[in-house]
Amino acid sequence: MQWIVVTGGNLSGLGKGIVSGSIAKLLEPHKIVNVKCDGYLNVDPGTINPFEHGEVFVLEDGGEVDMDFGHYERFTNHTSKSSHNLTSGKIFDAVITKERKGEYLGRTVQIFPHVIDEIKRRLLSIVEEEKPDVMMVEIGGTIDDIEESWFVRSIRELSHDFPHRMTFCHLAYVPFLSGVDEVKTRLVQTSVESLLQKGIRPDVVICRAEKRMTAEAKEKIGRFCGISAEAVISDPQSETIYELPLIFEEEGLRKYLEKKLGLQTNPRLEEWKAMVERIKNKEQAVEVAICGKYTGLKDAYASIMESLVHAGAFHKVHVQWHFIDTTDICSHDDVKRKLQGMQGIIIPGGFGRRGTEGKIRVAQYARENDIPYLGLCLGLQIAVIEFARNVCGLAGANSTEFVEEGAMVEHPVIDILPGQRKVQQKGATMRLGTYTAKLMEGATVHRLYGRTEVSERHRHRYEVNPKYHALLQQQGMIFSGTSVDEDGTTLVEFMELPNNVFRGTQAHPEFKSRLIHPAPLFVGFVGDILRTSQK
Ligand code: GLN
Repeated sequence: MQWIVVTGGNLSGLGKGIVSGSIAKLLEPHKIVNVKCDGYLNVDPGTINPFEHGEVFVLEDGGEVDMDFGHYERFTNHTSKSSHNLTSGKIFDAVITKERKGEYLGRTVQIFPHVIDEIKRRLLSIVEEEKPDVMMVEIGGTIDDIEESWFVRSIRELSHDFPHRMTFCHLAYVPFLSGVDEVKTRLVQTSVESLLQKGIRPDVVICRAEKRMTAEAKEKIGRFCGISAEAVISDPQSETIYELPLIFEEEGLRKYLEKKLGLQTNPRLEEWKAMVERIKNKEQAVEVAICGKYTGLKDAYASIMESLVHAGAFHKVHVQWHFIDTTDICSHDDVKRKLQGMQGIIIPGGFGRRGTEGKIRVAQYARENDIPYLGLCLGLQIAVIEFARNVCGLAGANSTEFVEEGAMVEHPVIDILPGQRKVQQKGATMRLGTYTAKLMEGATVHRLYGRTEVSERHRHRYEVNPKYHALLQQQGMIFSGTSVDEDGTTLVEFMELPNNVFRGTQAHPEFKSRLIHPAPLFVGFVGDILRTSQK
């Protein structure tokens, strides 16, 4: 077994997750396990506002993990596990729990060795459990962050424990000064110096830059870092992130790693390449509104955007998305003005009351004007509230999530799941991970999936209130996918209207969409846009 460690220098946000995913892709068909170390003290990102670190990605096993897992899963075909995301919070929590239990009795508990040992123990137990060909560890942030230091130290120790089995790939930013038409390599040099001071010598230096590195720049960086020029790899700005494995292939990274790791790879890039060509072809475009409240940071909706890219590639059309903040939509005129020119509407997941009245107006506008609508989790709940108010005549319909605690809702068409009522703790307590739904034969959702049983990932506390199922259905809403909860209640998993373009799901199909296997609901949504726009 071999290890690849990905570190970042000088700035965060350089795209280490995309780099790690791309490397994993190139090493196919070997079994690669991607692990991410995050320095923050939250046990997992589930309690972090998406404004801080982007979306919370949800895994099959219900793990709420860093959004980089989205890249790992989208670039490869493997399924990650919650235990593959190490955070300082998880590590410290485990160490302190052990201390309270007396497992270190008599000793002073310290970062070194106890925290370091806990990190190493966890990494090695992943190896033990998964038996990968390559264990790929990405260290979050930059090499100089205090909160990453225990991860860096643990990795350094492991490189002593397993000599000749570790390959270090360091990603650093290389600015291009247009005035003098020159790349500046000084920042790479200082970040590599910093790595060397920590006892780590990079084997590969990946240069994030506007353009590809010239042979001359590679020579210079290589000399400084003590590696050959062939191990200096360009990571230039590209039209789509999916191009990166292809660029790395051209840059010779796979050949280099094959030699270094002693592996024979065969990533079969032809189909991937064809899809990348489709993404780059922007001849025909459709305009989609993503109406949420985290519109200030597009990473908050990363998986939705990627699912649109996948569905667009499927239909050979470019999907242009627009983020629309619903907080300041106060009237139907506001909706019309803000949604002018939009051919499809997505209401993504979300929490809390802010912006929900605006979303309900958006859903009404979509339904009344036959504009393709895709409601994801909260988006399904919004559609149900809108339908209850404006079609079923329940003016007081709402979600119990959207009122002050203890306040009455006249018609709680969306209510908390019974199992969630007694939950006090916030972290990892929602209805999380994969649940299977049965689809109604003949419904559009059934046609899109081509199956009667589907499993998608979930992350919610509220549901369509079973007391209103009959009324909603009598008025024409179709519950085209349902599941049965542990206590026997029927949960609405998919909803659609007979007009065929208005639908939603309580799940998050965006987490399972892949370039080669786009999520069926997104394929249907983009297909609807193309069909309705031609009319
Ligand atoms: N806030 C809603 C719930 O908890 C929707 C959650 C979501 O969109 N992920 O049910």
